[in-house]
Amino acid sequence: MTIPQINRNIVQEIVMRHIRYFLIGVIPVTLIIAILVQASPKKHHLSADPKSLFDYYNETYFLGQLPNAEVVEEDIIDSKPNHVFMADTEHALGGHWYKIRISPTYNPTLNEEVLSISHESCHILIWERYEKEGKGADYQENHGTAWQNCMLNLAEQGAFKDVW
Ligand SMILES: [Zn+2]
Repeated sequence: MTIPQINRNIVQEIVMRHIRYFLIGVIPVTLIIAILVQASPKKHHLSADPKSLFDYYNETYFLGQLPNAEVVEEDIIDSKPNHVFMADTEHALGGHWYKIRISPTYNPTLNEEVLSISHESCHILIWERYEKEGKGADYQENHGTAWQNCMLNLAEQGAFKDVW
């Protein structure tokens, strides 16, 4: 064995060791990180700004009759297990104050978001009407005839034409 031959073997050994290190070390670590990034739950966001959508629907389909409302993207945590809320509305009786929450988790597309905004907007319309008639505090009929008529009216106006 000549001296250059030995050197070549040593160099080859060093190169191989680095390749092996790369294969057994760097690649698995990269894979594990990639898998963890993929597996970590991604926070879903609404397709459209819910306040802009509310204002647009108020102007277009409710002729601006609804009071200004706070509309936020927020998941709704409830104490009841297995209870899913797509959206809800907080309301100060007699105060014309409303806060709509639209869950980004349960409104994954614009279709659900439009339906949720419309659903809550109809609640606001009915509450406003009943409070004006002086029966706000007693009004409990959440999805009764008045609310259903509001939704039907929206459908007839074409509010859901790309949704249904
Ligand atoms: Zn409802």
